[in-house]
Formats: sequence, C-alpha cells, structure tokens
Amino acid sequence: MTSEAFAMLCEQNSFPEIGNGQLIQYLTEPRDSCTPLQPGQTRKQSGQPRGGGVETEYVMERDSRGDYHASLALEFPNSAHAAEVEQRVRTCLQTLAPYLSGPDGHKLEIKLLNQEQLNRLPPNLRPEIRPIDVVRYGRANYQAYPNDITCPEILHEVMHLFGLNDEYYENEHLYCRPVMEDSLMVSETAFTESVIPTQIRCDCTGITCRSIMNSGNQRLIDAYTAQDIPTLKQACEWSERVVTSLSAPTFVANGPRGWNVQRDRVMPSASAPYYEIRRGTSACRCKATDRYCLEYRRGDLQRSRAVHQVKAFCPFGAPLLERKFVSATTPAGVDAQGIYSFPIPQGRNRSLLHPNQFRLVIGGNCPNASPNYRTCSNFANTLPNPSCETPMACYDPRYYLGTSH
Ligand SMILES: [Zn+2]
Repeated sequence: MTSEAFAMLCEQNSFPEIGNGQLIQYLTEPRDSCTPLQPGQTRKQSGQPRGGGVETEYVMERDSRGDYHASLALEFPNSAHAAEVEQRVRTCLQTLAPYLSGPDGHKLEIKLLNQEQLNRLPPNLRPEIRPIDVVRYGRANYQAYPNDITCPEILHEVMHLFGLNDEYYENEHLYCRPVMEDSLMVSETAFTESVIPTQIRCDCTGITCRSIMNSGNQRLIDAYTAQDIPTLKQACEWSERVVTSLSAPTFVANGPRGWNVQRDRVMPSASAPYYEIRRGTSACRCKATDRYCLEYRRGDLQRSRAVHQVKAFCPFGAPLLERKFVSATTPAGVDAQGIYSFPIPQGRNRSLLHPNQFRLVIGGNCPNASPNYRTCSNFANTLPNPSCETPMACYDPRYYLGTSH
C-alpha cells in the first residue's frame, strides 16, 4: 500500500480512543446487557466460538455517529515473531476497518487494547486477556497464528473471537454444517479481495511467461492467464493428456448426480515453444447422501465458464511477487520490468461482513442477537450425527447470513 493510501485509511480510522470521552456512558448492569447499544454507550460483551467452547470478551463502544468500536484484549506471549505478528494484526485491523459495515451502513472498527487502555477502563468493563500463540507453521486457528499469517486470515480468526463460525466444507464428519459460498468464514482471501480492490503481481521474466505474453496470440494468453477450474476431489476422477490445440472448457450434466468437466491448462515446458497444452477431463458423481456434493454440482454447472474468467492466481511459470490492496485497480498487462499484474474482479458485496454476521458481533451473546445466524451456526461444528437436524433454511445464505442474493 502506498503511504498516501495508508494516510487516507488512517484518517478514516481516527475514531475516539476508548474510555477517554467524557460523554461515554458505561453500561454495567446485567439488565443492560442485551438492550441495543445507543450512541455514546459502552459495555462489555461476549462472543462464544463453538468448537473450542471458549467464551471471549470484548468491549463494545458506540460513538456519537452511531459507528461501533470493538476492543479485544489479546496478548502475544513471547516467541521469535510475536511482536511482529502483533503489529501485523493491528495494522491489518486498521486497514480493513473501512470495509466492515452493517446493513444500515454503520461501521465496525476492531481494535486491540494495550495495557494502558485496559488500565483506564472501569474494572468491571475490562475484558479477559486472551493469549494468541505465534507458531512457526501450520494452519491458523483462533488461538494460534503462524508467523506468515496474512491479513485476510487474521480477520477470519479474529471474527471467531466474536462468535462467528466456519462456513466452509471441511469433511464429511462435519456434514451438519451449513456450507456457504461467498463469505469471510468460507475463503477469507478470495472474499476479502473481492470486496477490497486488489492487484496481483507476478514475475513474468521466465521463458514460458515471456514467450506466451509476447506471442501476440490472444487466445493462448487468455488460456495461460485463466483461473484453473476447481474440482471436487471426493467426487471426481481426473485424467490429463497433452494436446496440440486449445479448446474452450465444457461442463456437462451427466444424470441427476453426475457431471463432466473438460478444461485445458497451459503449462511450462523445457523446450521451445516453452509451453504445452494439457487437457484435463473429469467424470464426477455425488453420493446420494452427500448434500455438499449435490450443492456443489449445481453450482459447478451454473458457474460454468464464469469460474474460468475470474483470475486469482499467477499463471504457472510466473511466481507470485505480491498481492496488495490498492486504491484503484489497473487492467491486466506486463510492464517494462517483466511484471505481469492483474486486478481481482470486485464482487457484489461491499462489506467484509454479511448482515447477520455483523448483527451477531454487535449484539454479542444475547439470544435475540441475529437469531438466524445463531440457529444455523450452532450446527457448524456438530460431530457425526446420523439424525443431522440442521434446518433446511440454513442452507440459504439469505436466511443464514441475511444476504440479499
Ligand atoms: Zn475458521
């Protein structure tokens, strides 16, 4: 991010510091804990990430404009990269704040309290301090972050501390979980980049990338830079062979539970013309009981070629240099230094939180806070259960997440 763009973001984030305004009304009575927060009021709330079963606490403040400021007390116990990761978390939350907004347009800023701010709070408003381990590698979870955790991953994990649950397909043992598609709690990187203008930069100085991008053959360039089509591993059998000419991808239904995909990939090769075309074909079939697969099949056929057009990764043979949030994206192209860059297409969502996710964070662990979200996300971590009782309505993002589509 340029320093100019960063200054712009900082300006937008110049919210009042917690606990320093004389107009702030602290709500500390239990009877106040579930009434809607009014501008000028502050209270302690809790979130309940299921799975680990740990309750987290945070301070929720509403400023005079009606915007919300949630403060967490996180502690990063000493390890080689703890201070660096803590700083990354702070910077990330500040960068993303303009993109966390609710259905009524109010904003949500998430902050980490430092020791001094904690001390300034009345004792009964101080949230419990939660340790976050910084680990060398591994998948992030809400209580341990790898050294190289990215900003979208940070936001995903932090939202668990506010009570949001995962919405992605994990494995068949979690089939009671309603699986969503476009959400921070499904694929944080893709979703974040579809909301915030993002530019990807790839090193195109290698022979494969150079010869294709300079070939003047637009069809070849399009196929080389296209996004690969994802397939469902548990349902599809793939085979691949080298072919001599390109053809467009195809998706064809095969009975009520099956479908076939064919798509070409342009891959590096050691000798001239330094690329080869590999044609992949897959025959896919869902088990009758695999609800996720059946939904996926429907989506795969519907998405059809559109999937192929959404570029999100550097092409083979052109290593990723950087994915960065920008103030405005520029069209795809190779510059004089041999850097191929392209924009991530902006999605239909304007906020990183869907309406019911936002409502849950605002309302905390109150029974009437985002009731649909609470009902549906209760099944997110259900263990194998033959009588999986997830309400069917939960498979509709309009019901679960409050989306308009
Ligand atoms: Zn998660």
